[in-house]
Amino acid sequence: MKTVQDSELEYFDLLETISDPEIPVLTIVDLGIVRSCETISEGKVKVVITPTYTGCPAMDTIADDIKKAFAKEGLEVVLETQIHPAWTTDWITEKGKANLEAYGIAPPAHKTSDKGALMGRDEVRCPQCKSTNTEVISQFGSTACKALYRCKDCLEPFDYFKCL
Ligand SMILES: [Zn+2]
Repeated sequence: MKTVQDSELEYFDLLETISDPEIPVLTIVDLGIVRSCETISEGKVKVVITPTYTGCPAMDTIADDIKKAFAKEGLEVVLETQIHPAWTTDWITEKGKANLEAYGIAPPAHKTSDKGALMGRDEVRCPQCKSTNTEVISQFGSTACKALYRCKDCLEPFDYFKCL
């Protein structure tokens, strides 16, 4: 007989197998969108997630992926969305940020409480050579939550995950 806590740890293991469809190295747990996960009845699990931002197209894919991953284990998911408090990039785990950088995307530079970050003056570090001598090329990179930067030292362009 498994304890409730054991099964919840297993649920998190399952959730750890699901990645942000736009950033395969970032699991939804590392992205920080999973609020809670609990058994509500035999074979039924309630998963509460906070969307990264309203209308993010990746959220539908993530919701489907969660349902599929649990269905494989014979579990039905009741998905709940919690809007408040709003998700911020502060919720990305340290492991998630390290994975982002290793993947070539500069992780969010500041806590969102930092005024400079809100004004768009992030000190962005090049994921290739770690130089902070970087410049913004476009506020919108491959997706709305990223900006396109270029490193003035190694001259490589890279995506920066904007602080939200
Ligand atoms: Zn560089």
